[in-house]
Amino acid sequence: MPKTEDEKGFVDIVNGRYKVRGKFHIIEKNQPIFNKDTGKLAGVTNPRDMTYIHSYGGEGIFFESLGKGKLMATRCDNDRCETKGSIYEPFRIYCPDCLRKNTVVDITEKAQKTAKIHSFIITHRSGAFNTLPKPIKFINIEFDEEVVTILMSVLVVGEPEIGKKVVPIFRTKNPTYTIMDLMFVVEGTKESELPEGFTF
Ligand SMILES: [Zn+2]
Repeated sequence: MPKTEDEKGFVDIVNGRYKVRGKFHIIEKNQPIFNKDTGKLAGVTNPRDMTYIHSYGGEGIFFESLGKGKLMATRCDNDRCETKGSIYEPFRIYCPDCLRKNTVVDITEKAQKTAKIHSFIITHRSGAFNTLPKPIKFINIEFDEEVVTILMSVLVVGEPEIGKKVVPIFRTKNPTYTIMDLMFVVEGTKESELPEGFTF
């Protein structure tokens, strides 16, 4: 059952400190598990309702930008690093080679022009809490040669094929501030075919 506002947990940061309000743990009555063949007690269910506080730290800019229709990545700009100029998507706060802090860069246009399917997996059965339409078309995406990593995402319009060009779409209407605000569609998809709340 959807929770009422009184049953939700909220967090703000004020003066550099986390301030929480509302409910983060909701207790619910457990149920016995009986063996119908023997009539004996076998165990109990253990319902739990907890709200986690998931801190993004230096990755906050990545998730905030998705809702604004922008795909952010990072780049090592250290002159003394052998892999200077490498772009990381998924977003890496630190360069894995020199361990210096990377520069945040906007790769939206690069993704629109160069993203293509490196490989893919189609999943017909999902785990708990899945909200993606099934079958889920998970795609591994490569960009141009400046981007040295592969991004995993989901293809929501079109059929996956190795080498096929894809473009990012963003949940700009009511963003969730999670990775669910970024998905991909095959190149040539019309705006009217996008899922509710998404734009190019
Ligand atoms: Zn580096």
